[in-house]
Parts: sequence; C-alpha cells; structure tokens
Amino acid sequence: MTKKVAVLPGDGIGEEVMAQALRVLSAVSEIFPLKFETRHALAGGAAFDKFGSHMPEETLKLCRESDAILFGSVGGPVADMNLPKWKNCEANSILSLRKTFNFNVNLRPVKVIPELAALCPLKEEIIARGVDILFVRELLGDAYFGEKKTFLKDGRRVATDLSTYTEDQVASVAHAAFKAALKRNNKVTSVDKANVLDASKLWRTVVHEVAQEYPTVKLEDMLVDNCAMQIIRDPSQFDVVVTTNMFGDILSDAAAVLPGSLGLLASASQNEAGFGLYEPPGGSAQDIAGKGCANPIAQILSVALMLRFSFQAEEAAQAIENAVSLTLKQGLRTTDILTPDSSGKTQAVTTVQMTDGILAHLMKLSPVLS
Ligand code: NAD
Repeated sequence: MTKKVAVLPGDGIGEEVMAQALRVLSAVSEIFPLKFETRHALAGGAAFDKFGSHMPEETLKLCRESDAILFGSVGGPVADMNLPKWKNCEANSILSLRKTFNFNVNLRPVKVIPELAALCPLKEEIIARGVDILFVRELLGDAYFGEKKTFLKDGRRVATDLSTYTEDQVASVAHAAFKAALKRNNKVTSVDKANVLDASKLWRTVVHEVAQEYPTVKLEDMLVDNCAMQIIRDPSQFDVVVTTNMFGDILSDAAAVLPGSLGLLASASQNEAGFGLYEPPGGSAQDIAGKGCANPIAQILSVALMLRFSFQAEEAAQAIENAVSLTLKQGLRTTDILTPDSSGKTQAVTTVQMTDGILAHLMKLSPVLS
C-alpha cells in the first residue's frame, strides 16, 4: 500500500537537506517493495510569508491526511529573532504539531561512528567501548505542562511549575522504550529522581509494572544525577534510556554532542496511535544556508527512523543506516565533520555529493540488485 508522507522542509538548510532525503526515499522505493506519496507543505518562516502563521491550517490538514510527517527545520537568523516572521517561529511550529497530534514520546538515537571518533569530546578509550544509545523521552508531562504560577508571598516574588505524571502517561512511554529495546540490545535504563520526587516514585513503580510484560528485557533504574555522570564516564553501558520530559530534554541534549555534529542526529516524535514526526534536532542553520555545504545525514537518518517506526520497514531503515556508515568510512565529509586526516582518505564534499555517496552505497546494499 502507498504510504502518504507529509513533507515540511521549513527554512534555511531545511529545503536543501530535505531535497536530499527525498532522493534517498525515492531510491528506497526502487529497491524495496515500498511505495510513497510525498506531498509538500510550508512551515515556519516560509509559511508565515504566505499565510501569516508559522503552522497554517493547510499544513496541519495535510499532516492529518498523511501516514507520517517528515520535518526539516525552521527559524530565522538568531540576530533577527524579534522580526514578526521569525519571532517564536520554532516554538509556534513544533509545539503546534506536538499539541495537534499529541506526540507523547520522543525517540533520539545517539551513536558515535568510529570513523568520526575524533569529533567526539570523550577520550579515545571511552569511545572505543562503543556509544550507541536510544533516548526515549516523555513529551507531554512534567513541569513543562503542569500548572504554572508566579505570585507575591510576603512581598517576595515566588514562581512554581507543577511537575505531574499520571500512571497512563508513564506506561505509554515505558511501552515505547521496551518495544524499542526488543529491537536493539534488550536493556532499558529508567532514569528518575525517585529518592526525592513523588512523580519519580510513581514513574519507577509504573516502569517496573510495564517491565513484567517484557521478560527478555533487562531493566535497571538510575538516578538522573548519576546518569548525567555515566553518559560521560561510560556511555557504552546504555542501550535504551527512558526518562521524563525535563530529564530527557537535558540528558539527550548533553549526549547530542557525542557524535560531533548536529548534522548527524535524527529524532522521532510519536503519539499513542503510532503516528510519527521525523526530524533532525538541529535548526535551520542560517549561517550556512544556501551554501550547499549542509550535512544531509541527519535528514536522511530521519527517513530511516520513519521507515523503522512508522512503516515497520526495518530492512530498509538498516540499509540507509549502513549506507551512511559506509559513506563515512569511505571518507566523504561535509565541512561540519571535516577533521585533519593524515591517511589522505578524507574528502571534503557538498550536500549533494554526500548524498550521491550514500545513494551509491544504498544501491550496492540493495537485496534486489545484489
Ligand atoms: P542551529 O541548530 O540551526 O545551528 C547550530 C550550529 O550547528 C550552526 O553552526 C549550524 O551551521 C550547525 N548545523 C546545524 N545543522 C547542521 C547541518 N545539517 N549541517 C552542518 N551544520 C549544521 O541553531 P541556531 O543557529 O541556534 O538556530 C538557527 C535557527 O534555528 C533559530 O531560528 C532557531 O530558533 C531555529 N531552531 C530550530 C529548530 C527546529 O526546527 N527543530 C531547532 C533548533 C533551532
């Protein structure tokens, strides 16, 4: 059956890297028995120009009619953030999609590719043990969505953000984590602050209840402060990390520096019905937009995540990931991942050339053509 994909390139490098990701999606449909119908819509500043809204109803309608959303990135130059076109552009676009579709789970893989170890800020012997973590973050609860108040008490200013979790919210994200672990290395680390917070105590209890349904997956609990240390000290111990909205926000961003560039990361947001949005966590990179040098890998790996999580096309997802890996092994580098290399193997390439390399490997890996 043809899968409908809503394509929202957004602003800046969004257009450039999305065009490359669609070349890869098109190749996938030639190699595997998968068919896609891609329909484009505006988001962010590009949408504001035409509709006076960063996330117009037309775009939301297209998303509702689709099986998955492939999102680029939005936002204007940081210096122009107060211009109407760019003011709250990122928040208006992303939060509007999260709210409309109730995306409650965020999945963010973080992997250090051995060929790019020089870009990772950790010591060589730590990286050598392997860094391959999937962060599963709850997206609709915690202090971000609880009651907010700022008031005066005895003439002094006070502010509170209530952190609340229901057992259903926790169970939903826990199931997502255990299911993901079944497809990986069968380990879930649940991160909380159960020694202090009631919401964390409930979190831990519910995660353990859900774990009963996944007897082959090993579950361990870890306090968030310890987890922050362990990600730097020995990230090889983690497979799937599941955690709350705020802890996930902080930990996944800290871990995002490990691969070495925002141009290498992909992320997925899903709701309980399994409907998902796939995007690079980086922004519109206005500093390099239009120069043809943006790294397309994050957007291409977002396609792989879409195939894996929305369309259960694991083989196609792995083929893309392997093609990316082989292209990097071959030495192709966009400027964000260019490191000094004495072997002479490394070659500086453009956005399009990097994709050409990935496509060449993808075709070679294809089960149909080999
Ligand atoms: P940014 O993520 O756009 O860029 C940060 C740095 O990373 C820049 O040096 C950029 O060149 C580099 N970079 C990012 N993606 C890259 C890629 N694929 N290839 C090579 N280099 C890449 O962050 P910023 O500059 O602080 O923000 C620019 C705009 O993007 C702002 O308007 C911000 O609000 C918005 N933003 C949007 C999203 C999103 O759409 N999800 C996320 C973050 C920031």
